[in-house]
This record gives sequence, structure tokens and C-alpha cells, in this order.
Amino acid sequence: MRILYVCSELYPFLKTGGLADVSAGLPPALKAAGCDVRLLLPAFPALAHPALTQRWVAALPGGPTPWGTAAPALPAVEIALASLPDLDVAVYLLRAPTLYDRPGNPYLDADGKDWGDNAQRFAALGWAGATLGQGLDPDWVPDVVHCHDWHAGLVPAYLRAFADAGQPTPATVFSIHNLAYQGLFPRGVFHQLGLPEHFFGIDGLEFFDQVSFMKAGIQFAERITTVSPTYAREILSEPQGCGLDGLLRERAHRVSGILNGVDPLVWDPSGDALLPMTYDADSLQNKAVAKRALQLAYGLEPRADALVFGVVSRLTTQKGLHLLPQVLDELVQRGGQLALLGQGSACLEEALVAATRQYPGQVGVRIGYDETTAHRVVAGSDVILVPSEFEPCGLTQLYGLRYGTLPLVRRVGGLADTVVDCTPENLQAGTATGFVFEHLSAHDLRNALQRAFDLSQRPGDWRAVQCTGMALRFDWATAAQNYLALYCLLRPCALTEIGK
Ligand code: ADP
Repeated sequence: MRILYVCSELYPFLKTGGLADVSAGLPPALKAAGCDVRLLLPAFPALAHPALTQRWVAALPGGPTPWGTAAPALPAVEIALASLPDLDVAVYLLRAPTLYDRPGNPYLDADGKDWGDNAQRFAALGWAGATLGQGLDPDWVPDVVHCHDWHAGLVPAYLRAFADAGQPTPATVFSIHNLAYQGLFPRGVFHQLGLPEHFFGIDGLEFFDQVSFMKAGIQFAERITTVSPTYAREILSEPQGCGLDGLLRERAHRVSGILNGVDPLVWDPSGDALLPMTYDADSLQNKAVAKRALQLAYGLEPRADALVFGVVSRLTTQKGLHLLPQVLDELVQRGGQLALLGQGSACLEEALVAATRQYPGQVGVRIGYDETTAHRVVAGSDVILVPSEFEPCGLTQLYGLRYGTLPLVRRVGGLADTVVDCTPENLQAGTATGFVFEHLSAHDLRNALQRAFDLSQRPGDWRAVQCTGMALRFDWATAAQNYLALYCLLRPCALTEIGK
């Protein structure tokens, strides 16, 4: 079965969040499961520079389309098949220097504002995905096109237009990694997309008189997935539906949740070259070395008995970290410390940096994005904090589990699916893996912190919880089997072709 995987980020080349980790983890796992997978991404500099071109594939055709309009008016756009270092999956790179040859964040300019031509940039990605789905590369025609987030949301729309015009099309799966980022554009943009006129409407891309690329994916894909079962349920109702819950409810029979995995080649304390000393469940004393190194690196007093709380996160309202300054007094008074790595909201950055002055030696903050520090915070902390308002899956709590760093999370989305609270019953049953609280309030967060301090007074119990978490495996092989089952539902005839 041939799978075209359309996305806009790929670890370690280009990453703004968990989407990049998924694009690095899932395609190789699908390949290992017998699928013939190729990725399609825009040739952003971070991808174009290390890529080795294997073969020129095609220039993107202009109009007219089978449905009578011109194809999207794109600058010169070409597709090449390439390989990337240490990636065992071939990549179609969409080359269009005027659209993609810009440094830094793929979506935002240097001032943190959306690039003004994002609609054209990601319409081109959608059009490329759809035309590859239609056999643009005659050597490789996919059975399924799997699209990720709003950036690839137009692929199913274009493919539906091809299907309506009587052309054979591949199956489509659209994965929502974060419903809050929707790819919304002024309605005038619609006429540049080259879609049939009637696609702008309540049953199409229209979203309160704007054009929504996310809605296009949800509306036109045959199946919709999210990255955890709980988030798949949550987005069906108003608080988390971001205005799309009505449509999602209509299509609920096509919505499912599949948990993300962890790549053990990147996140495994027993082989992590970024740590001062590797460790596993049988050598947890070496985790103390990581803790001391973290304390020193963050300017924290190197006290072995301090309970260190770690954070590795984008600093956005989604992550619930505005609660942190409100609980730092108690955290520090009880002998705790905070080591935080993150960037995002300027006012949250300021508040956190101010806390380092208020609690010298007890609160350490690094503003920025740094992979090495991320590993060291996860390994060197005792507890990893993820108090999110909403969380489609969440990866940092999964890394925490693997590293014997107990996650302290809000019961929401993928956090609810992956962390088992340290209630007396769960401790007794040997299933507890962390601390879970209900409401997004300083009060509930404070209570959960207290429970972490209390458990830390019982080292035997703490260690048992660490070992339970470290033994869990959230692997990409399991996720790949679940996606494969979904693809096979859509294209049973391609089932016998697996591996070809
Ligand atoms: P989201 O995708 O919403 O940002 P996830 O938990 O799914 O949240 O994934 C976040 C990913 O980004 C993780 O791999 C995490 O380690 C990484 N990350 C987040 N912030 C930083 C940072 N400041 N520096 C390095 N890595 C970060």
C-alpha cells in the first residue's frame, strides 16, 4: 500500500512542535509495517539544504482543471524526489523559492506575524499533494494521501473536486494535531485557490465568511484522526471544538483518535548521548547526576533533596503555564525548584524571568528553543509539569514517563490518556505513573504539587511509580498498526499490496 504523507515539519530538520516529531516517527514505522511511504513537504531551507535530489519529478501543472476553473495561480513550482540524511523514507520536496526560501519559522516572519502569503504557500502544498495523488509521478501513485493539520488541509478539497469531476482518486485521511491553529484567511483568497465555486459555502471551506484550510480537511477527507482518543471526543463539543465542533459532530462516525508514540532513538535515557550519564530503571542513581548537572546549568542550588520541577514547552495560553507564577511561593517554600525551557508569549516570558530574580537559586528559566537543553531538563527534573488548558496528545509527558520524571498534568486530551494519577488505589494496584488534576486553576495545580511533595517523602513509592512509567511503551509501531487498519478500511484492495 502506498501512502503519501503531506506535512510541513520534520524533526530534526524543521520543528516548531510535536508535529515534527510525529512526521519523523510515524512514516518509518508505517514503512516497517509494510507500507510504501513517501513524504511531501515544502522545500524550506532547513530541508532543502541537507536534501540530496534523486530525481526531478514534475513542474506543477497550471489550469484549466477538469472542473473548469484555472488551477491555483502559483509561481514556478517544481517537485523533486529527494533523500534526507538518516531518514529511511523518500521525500517529495516542493520547490518554489518565492514561497518557501525564507529562514526561520515556516509559518511566521521574524516579527512573529503570519507570512502574508500563507494562503498561497499552503495552497501550493495542497495542490501538490492532490496532483501527486492524481498520478503526477507516474512511477509512484499513492493509494492513500494522509494530510496533517491545516497546512495540508486543501489536499482533500482538491481531491474531492477531482473525484466530483469523475477522476479516480486515492483515499484521504486528515490528522488534526491541534485544532486551535486553523489556517483562516479572508474570503477573497478563495478565488485564488482554483477550487469549484460551490466549495465556498457552509458545506465547504467557508467559516464565518472566511476561508478555513482546517475546515477543508475536516469537510472533505474520508477519515479524520486526532492524536489521542480523549481529544477526539473533546473536539466534538463546544469548549474544545474551536467553532468546528458542529461539523465534527456531523462527521463523528469518521473521527477517531490514535495516540502518538515516542522515538526511542531520540528519547531513551539508556542511550541518550545528550545526558551527562545514561540510565535506566536499574540505574536510577545516574539520574541524580543529570539532576545535579541541570541544577548547576540553571543556577539552582545543587541540593539533592530539592524536588525539581521541569517544564519544556511553547509558552502559549494553551499550555496553562500562566498558573505557574501563582504557585511558585509554595513550590519554593516546600523546598522545590523550577527549571523551565520555553519561548512564546512575551508577557509570560517576562513573568517567568522576573521569578528567577524573586527566587534566586530556586527558579531557573531559559527562554529559547534548544533540543539539548530539552533532553537535560526532562532527565534532570523529578517532575515534568504539563498543566495544559487543552492538549491534543502531548509528548513531553511521554518523555517524562520514559525518563523516570513523573508527569504532573491536567486531566485533558492526551494527558488524560497517558498519565495515571497517584491515588492510593492506583498506587496500591501498581498502575500510578504521575499526578493528575482536574481544573485549570492555581488551586488544583497547588494541590497536585502538594501531592508530589508528599509522595517524595516516601522514596520507595516514588521509585515504584518511576519504574511503572519507565516500563510503559508508547511506540510508533502500535500507532502505525492503528493507522494501517484505518487505511485498509478505506482501500481494502490495497491490503494485498502491502509491501509493494
Ligand atoms: P506542542 O506540539 O503543542 O508544542 P507537544 O508536547 O506535542 O506540544 O510537543 C512539543 C515538542 O516540542 C516536544 O518534543 C518538546 O520537547 C519540544 N519543545 C517544546 N518547547 C521546546 C523548547 N523551548 N526547546 C526545545 N524543545 C521544545
